[in-house]
Amino acid sequence: PKIVIAIDGYSSCGKSTTAKAVAARMGYGYIDTGAMYRAVSLFFIEKHVALSNKNEVITALEQLHITFNHNNRTGRNETCLNGLNVEEEIRKMYISNIVSEVSAIPEVRWAMVAQQQKMGRRRGVVMDGRDIGTKVFPDAEVKVFMTADTTIRARRRQQELLSKGEMINLDDIIQNLEKRDKIDTTRSESPLVQAPDAALLDTSHMTIEEQVDWVIEQADR
Ligand code: C5P
Repeated sequence: PKIVIAIDGYSSCGKSTTAKAVAARMGYGYIDTGAMYRAVSLFFIEKHVALSNKNEVITALEQLHITFNHNNRTGRNETCLNGLNVEEEIRKMYISNIVSEVSAIPEVRWAMVAQQQKMGRRRGVVMDGRDIGTKVFPDAEVKVFMTADTTIRARRRQQELLSKGEMINLDDIIQNLEKRDKIDTTRSESPLVQAPDAALLDTSHMTIEEQVDWVIEQADR
């Protein structure tokens, strides 16, 4: 049976790493919804969109097109913005610093959620984000809500950035994670919250392999 696996939770708990591996093991598609909000943020920066100006926001949303392209050479999924590969750019710290403000704009969310719902129902899919189990696919067959200790999350994030050549000190990362979590949990439009029927997974002391097994076990139930 083709099902939707919704993985939500706080920033840098290992959601995408886990979701990607689960999708690969189950032969499912994988959709990184955070990448979509990051691509929107990049586009808004490039176009100098004033976030408080609804008209500018709406016009910009009409001009952007986000797709995921599978690169056969690297075997990886790439986020594309109007046909251009922006995968590397959207992971940088200057994007992390504004993405939560951008994704709190209701018009931005409506546009992304509509697109995610279209992407999701064609085949079995693992989708990770903040509102998948509550808003995008409230009927998802499997729902997981991930959390982890803030310092542990920040260390993992720091390693990830370092592996891409970006050196950021731990305090700045902790500040960014806490700021994003705060905005994500308090915004008016579908705030980050654990769905009542989501299973809670604290990844503080788990390896990726254990997390993947755990999620697949939920799907096998
Ligand atoms: O998952 P990632 O950390 O890349 O997401 C970046 C940001 O995008 C989050 O901090 C959140 O503000 C926003 N987001 C969202 N809803 C989603 C996925 C991401 O608001 N479904």
